[in-house]
Amino acid sequence: MSEKIKCLIIGSGPAGYTAAIYASRAGLHPIMYQGSQPGGQLTTTTEVDNFPGYPQGTDGPAMMVDLENQAKRFGTDVRFGMATKVDFTSSPKKVWVDDTIEIEADAVIIATGASAKWLGLEGETTFNGLGVSACAVCDGFFYRNQTVAVVGAGDTAAEEASYLANLCTKVHLIVRRGEMRASLIMQERVKNNPKIEIHWNSETEEILGDANGVTGIRIVNNISKATEEIALTGFFVAIGHQPNTSIFKGQLEMDKQEYLVTEKGSSRTNIEGVFACGDVQDSIYRQAITAAGTGCIAALDAERWLAASNLH
Ligand code: NDP
Repeated sequence: MSEKIKCLIIGSGPAGYTAAIYASRAGLHPIMYQGSQPGGQLTTTTEVDNFPGYPQGTDGPAMMVDLENQAKRFGTDVRFGMATKVDFTSSPKKVWVDDTIEIEADAVIIATGASAKWLGLEGETTFNGLGVSACAVCDGFFYRNQTVAVVGAGDTAAEEASYLANLCTKVHLIVRRGEMRASLIMQERVKNNPKIEIHWNSETEEILGDANGVTGIRIVNNISKATEEIALTGFFVAIGHQPNTSIFKGQLEMDKQEYLVTEKGSSRTNIEGVFACGDVQDSIYRQAITAAGTGCIAALDAERWLAASNLH
């Protein structure tokens, strides 16, 4: 099966839906394929308190349903399906969905996001949303005046530990080696914060909890093999993100962490007519609102490019 369209949007997080709202309103008749996790990373969050426009907060899945309905109201054709292969070497661009459906699109907006890396512990699944999180800025507020842990030793972990130290009574930072990978200035900030206790050479063996959520963790020292139980209510995993870019390898320019590279101040990739927005091209901010902002940019860039190319 093959279909020729003007604008294809791949991915359905805040970036994808915002691009869809703008592209529909601009008359581009976009088709969106939602990917393996319709709604994106926010569907794994319970409460969202920092997205402007929700004075009482909302929950992640509900917000994504709102965005989907808004995109549909203007005519976006939202479909289940996963882009499995692309060919951007000629125009129109070709994208295969679920290996069977072939879409030919003049413009393609990529909003496939990034996925948080996890440790692989059973408790990460059991207590997801009940004390386990991969985003301190999203969920830290719910742990104010409580004890939490952060796992990781890069800039994200250092930043999350410092952020949480402003809200929580105590932050345990679990570092698997005897040194941190984070930039020196971030390391100093963490080391000099009296609320942060660093557990060097330590890994988490188990997340402990009950029906109400996380109650603690058991860590093991990699050198002495001694174990220790720490009572806490929040467990933040900050060991990096993986952008969802594997199908674009060899076709689109990426940085060394495999994030898509966009031209500064725009959503343009190195291929004409292919635009990227949201976390797939942002290793730094990674917020729903910043993703939504770049989704708007991508739709405007696509519309202008189509018009300039006499395709709209
Ligand atoms: P990084 O890949 O830099 O660091 C990941 C950290 O997680 C490493 O310290 C690693 O340990 C640790 N880790 C990985 N797997 C495990 C595991 N299974 N158990 C325990 N620890 C583990 O990711 P970040 O998200 O921190 O940063 C990504 C990029 O974004 C970096 O380039 C960073 O500089 C940048 N960034 C910049 C910021 C800023 O400038 N404000 C803020 C945040 C990120 P080990 O060191 O032992 O490998």
